[in-house]
Amino acid sequence: MAKVIAIANQKGGVGKTTTAVNVAASMAATKRKVLLIDLDPQGNATMASGVDKYEAEATTFELLIEEKPIDDVIIKNTTAKYDLIAANGDVTAAEIKLMEMFAREVRLRNALQPVKDYYDFIFIDCPPSLNQLTVNALAAADSVLVPMQCEYYALEGLTALMDTIQKLASVVNPDLKIEGVLRTMYDPRNRLANDVSEQLKRHFGEQVYRTVIPRNVRLAEAPSFSMPAMYYDKSSSGAKAYLALAGEILRRREKTLQPAKAS
Ligand code: ADP
Ligand code: MG
Repeated sequence: MAKVIAIANQKGGVGKTTTAVNVAASMAATKRKVLLIDLDPQGNATMASGVDKYEAEATTFELLIEEKPIDDVIIKNTTAKYDLIAANGDVTAAEIKLMEMFAREVRLRNALQPVKDYYDFIFIDCPPSLNQLTVNALAAADSVLVPMQCEYYALEGLTALMDTIQKLASVVNPDLKIEGVLRTMYDPRNRLANDVSEQLKRHFGEQVYRTVIPRNVRLAEAPSFSMPAMYYDKSSSGAKAYLALAGEILRRREKTLQPAKAS
């Protein structure tokens, strides 16, 4: 049975898409069967997976709104070595149409049912807002992975985000777990980043991944070559960090995750 992990943070530019693409590729490299779902109309995860978002025949729009069978929407075995459900500008319309649909929060969850036995991991790259698409991701997920940058006010933002996730979870998905909090674009020479990182560990304890994603230009460059960092420069610190993260996720799977729902 696939583990469904939503990668969410309503803030933009915190490394959600970079994490989604590189963790999916790293997990696929460990021979797990992986599906990456792009839920962001910007389609950045799609492009970074080597799929031209303008050429995609079907996207999450067809899956969520037109109820196209999931097998017809999945792009099999991308150059990034995982399967993909693409996104592009059409997905903006999905966000609007969802508002007026029956059982609108659980459309993704229902759509995924037929392939849940096939995959080991399904990652969902969320848009930078808490809209209906993100609600669908959180309703479909077993757990949520929250990437964050260790900067000013990061902790406040994270506490607010966790609150929102908990409230949402109690309505649409009481079983939702916190997969983990991931420090991204980390610069160990920056004192503020170190301070925030320490506070983060105090507040969120074991939920914070030991693996830290460094600021690494290869991670930023790889998407313009339409590939995850491990295929662009496998010896880069960024590629290695995401491989380590995949390992940590696998090891954590053997332990129990913390519930997201407020008790
Ligand atoms: P989000 O999906 O949360 O909006 P992205 O993953 O698109 O964030 O990252 C925002 C920008 O920062 C992108 O240009 C991306 O290439 C860059 N970036 C992300 N992670 C790193 C990193 N660890 N080091 C350097 N640049 C990064
Ligand atoms: Mg993104």
